[in-house]
Amino acid sequence: MCVFCEIVKGNIPSKKIYEDDNTIAILDLSQATYGHTLIIPKKHSSNVLEIDDESYVNAMKVAKKVASAIKKSFDDVLGFNLLNNCGEDAGQTVNHFHIHIIPRYKNDGIKIEFVDNQGKFDMEEIKNKIIKNI
Ligand code: ZN
Repeated sequence: MCVFCEIVKGNIPSKKIYEDDNTIAILDLSQATYGHTLIIPKKHSSNVLEIDDESYVNAMKVAKKVASAIKKSFDDVLGFNLLNNCGEDAGQTVNHFHIHIIPRYKNDGIKIEFVDNQGKFDMEEIKNKIIKNI
């Protein structure tokens, strides 16, 4: 059983804020920040590597629409993180593709930090390895 498929079918209740033919948007139970929302394609696919292009594009369009609505709804939103976790090691907990919209506020306690590895890796090698598979 897939929790998000059950939510799409209405078998599990959710705080739905948007629905169209392909996509729903619901409030995330965890509310990492005020208004934290999930964009969920109705059609099941496990992750970003498996989702069909049409479902993906539709979900991204809904993410933009909902982010805009969140911005209009809350005066103190400073920005957003649009986040997709692909794979358990990357923090994916439900194996049904979804996008997090995490509204950001002053002193919201969320930290998304990048490590500066400039100069550590052979970037030409990385580039060539990836290009071979595109
Ligand atoms: Zn599913």
